[in-house]
Amino acid sequence: MGLTLTEKIIKDHLVVGEMVKGTEIGIRIDQTLTQDSTGTMAYMQLEAMEVPRVKTKRSLAYIDHNMLQEGPENMDDHIYIQTVAKKHGVYFSKPGNGICHQVEIERFGVPGQTLLGSDSHTPTGGGIGMLAIGAGGLDVAVAMAGGEYYITMPEVVKVELTGKLRKGVSSKDIILEVLRQCTVKGGINKVFEYTGDGVKTLTVPERATVTNMGAELGATTSVFPSDDMTKAFLEAQGRGEDFTALSADSDAVYDQVVKVDLSTLEPLTACPHSPDKVVKVSEIEGLKVNQVAIGSCTNSSWLDLMKVAAILKGQTVAENVQLVIAPGSKQVLTMLAENGALADLLNAGARILECGCGPCIGMGQAPCTDGVSLRTFNRNFKGRSGTVSADVYLLSPETAAISAVKGVLTNPLGKVELPDIEMPKDFLINDNAVVAPAPEGEVVEVVKGPNIKPFPLAKPLADTVEGKALIVVEDNITTDHIMPSNAKLLPYRSNIPYLADYCLAPCDPEFPQRAKDNDGGFIIGGQNYGQGSSREHAALAPVYLGIKGVIAKSFARIHKNNLINNGILPMVFENEADYDKISLGDNLMIDNAREQVNAGKIVLKNKTKNEEYPVLIEVSERQKEMLQAGGLINLMRSKN
Ligand code: SF4
Repeated sequence: MGLTLTEKIIKDHLVVGEMVKGTEIGIRIDQTLTQDSTGTMAYMQLEAMEVPRVKTKRSLAYIDHNMLQEGPENMDDHIYIQTVAKKHGVYFSKPGNGICHQVEIERFGVPGQTLLGSDSHTPTGGGIGMLAIGAGGLDVAVAMAGGEYYITMPEVVKVELTGKLRKGVSSKDIILEVLRQCTVKGGINKVFEYTGDGVKTLTVPERATVTNMGAELGATTSVFPSDDMTKAFLEAQGRGEDFTALSADSDAVYDQVVKVDLSTLEPLTACPHSPDKVVKVSEIEGLKVNQVAIGSCTNSSWLDLMKVAAILKGQTVAENVQLVIAPGSKQVLTMLAENGALADLLNAGARILECGCGPCIGMGQAPCTDGVSLRTFNRNFKGRSGTVSADVYLLSPETAAISAVKGVLTNPLGKVELPDIEMPKDFLINDNAVVAPAPEGEVVEVVKGPNIKPFPLAKPLADTVEGKALIVVEDNITTDHIMPSNAKLLPYRSNIPYLADYCLAPCDPEFPQRAKDNDGGFIIGGQNYGQGSSREHAALAPVYLGIKGVIAKSFARIHKNNLINNGILPMVFENEADYDKISLGDNLMIDNAREQVNAGKIVLKNKTKNEEYPVLIEVSERQKEMLQAGGLINLMRSKN
């Protein structure tokens, strides 16, 4: 039986486990990337592992998320990342060089390699045939240190593309169609693998748009084959030597099939407030628009912006619309400047932003109150734009550009005369905004501004674990409750002592001080504790406050992993009714904790009420080892 492309790449990188679907496997990581919002913590974790030099084939540190410099904190973080990268063998992409995923595709992605990034849109690399996966910062730090990355052996979905896109319909519409069919929950523990005749009609940047937004399916990743189109792209980027032809075997067996006929596809849009609320643009055409934002790691390539420039050439942005454009990289912006397309954008009345995430992460350009914002981005959750009352629609660059001119949501099909835009034979190559690491052995001073505080580590698991129930929370507590993240707190991502004062504050503002006064203790949670983003800070702040364990009715998967990685015991009530028996301030104790954790079953004693509750600790053998050591970093150190 033949293999899918996904299986071939996994087979080449498999170091732990067997390729049995649904089981845990460990894979070797070739390349890593970080961005600034998750990067500071990832590099502090790498430093804590005491690994002098990264062991990957190549690691990159990008600055693209938080480039507003209203106070010294952000630039201090940039300098820390730059110096720590130089010391440990990591390439540093300066602010202004571009969005991590766009630059990665242009300059560093290699077909057939694995890429682990501390950003959920790392799967963009699948556009060039990489197995590219988003993960928490600690997982990326472990990969940089030479450790494997653990995933559930995925199911593979065959996405069969037939036909050819019509002018005015773009690859953004392909992924919106897949989201319409599969929904935001449709990709869990799955890889979406693109096949069929339609694939060879799509350029690498178009493929990258599709794999980028595959993240919204909740998928492990998405991947395209590496073919003549990939070869031409790499050669035009001066990297022809990085090409390898890759595809699935003709008799590969897939777990699910999704079909998209490119020739009949129409321009689509994801309506507020979810990327899978997809309708045809023609169904809601005429909606009055306040803002159009073009860019993000989904749609800011040279090809995307050339199409936008072609539509805007000689036109004027409508009176009621503000049009903002953030090119994806220095390469893109410089090429537009040199070929005159930038002048077409400016002449039409567009505002040009620097090459970075900007409005996509809510850094500036928040829409007006109750505004309608059309965006070429990948997420439209309520409030992400910075304006809670705004309605954000996700769509293609073509739809965005024509709508900016007309002032209302407009279907580009039949309304725009797009010229044929050929991909360049030679992209403009100038990597002078990428700083190479220092040669091995050279002394480099790591500069840590006052905002960068030591990183909290749990202690190895004691034989007796005891403390008070410091907070009792209800069902569905999110990582936003546990560790709020907003524009005010974002500059403090490298300052856990500062952030810890906001830990669980939306549930109980006195919790952080209570935890400090009692030298730590336990959190009591309801169902689905820790749902939401993969934010690792929701485990790090509790570590800093001395939290030894969380006893909940159930956990969200990623948060549970983050607790384990950081040495906090995630326990579930065997009898859910016991949740009601624990009160704030009760003295709790676990005897013979090391032995009981290994057994997976724990007797939790409530000394205040003289009661005992059976609780379970449902983790793998590897995770038990981590908990015994007091977290992954302590475990790595003990093995070095
Ligand atoms: Fe994330 Fe948006 Fe930046 Fe992409 S452009 S990496 S989605 S913040």
